[in-house]
Amino acid sequence: MKPEERQQALDAIAAEVAACTLCPLHRGRKQTVPGDGAINADIMFIGEAPGYHEDQQGLPFVGASGKYLEELLASIGLKRQDVFIANVVKCRPPENRDPQPAEIDACKAYLDRQIEIIDPVIIATLGRFSMARYFPDGKITKIHGQPKYEGGRIYYPLFHPAAALRNANLKPVMEADFKRMTELIAKAREGDMPEDEPPPEPPKQLSLF
Ligand code: URA
Ligand code: SF4
Repeated sequence: MKPEERQQALDAIAAEVAACTLCPLHRGRKQTVPGDGAINADIMFIGEAPGYHEDQQGLPFVGASGKYLEELLASIGLKRQDVFIANVVKCRPPENRDPQPAEIDACKAYLDRQIEIIDPVIIATLGRFSMARYFPDGKITKIHGQPKYEGGRIYYPLFHPAAALRNANLKPVMEADFKRMTELIAKAREGDMPEDEPPPEPPKQLSLF
């Protein structure tokens, strides 16, 4: 797709989302939060749902989690404008409750289309709801930072930034996982993209308990 076609296609999705009433989350929203970033990004982050600040501004990850995400991006030499950031649901759940399965299903086609248009090298999931799209049985404590190769793309599970803000022990883990992500992309650019390789088994000592 040419850049202007990509932009038009993404704008069309954002317009559909802005008018969407497919699930009950439309009732409580101030603004929809379709997603934002570079139309030709190598990295696409998928989070959970807009919170208060996202709903106010119509942009993903602009609250405390977003600030931390920007710090993590800066640690690998990137700005948020260099990546694309979206969520599994585009409207804020009441009181920031978890999005429900029916809401995620109702919203799924928008995200699927965004992924097809952006066609990123790596999809990094932030939190359990986006992780479940690609690692249905995955436990984040075991699989974070371990890539899965499928259909010429890397799927890469990360802790949600909010988890690392709650638990400072996770911060060095997050930083290491971000560093590894840049190495994977560099390798993929050199043509090192294994075909459909599942994530490696977690190290034995981690699965003892
Ligand atoms: N948390 C998310 O998962 N998404 C946002 O957009 C903001 C916070
Ligand atoms: Fe539509 Fe998604 Fe918003 Fe539900 S969350 S109303 S499906 S845009």
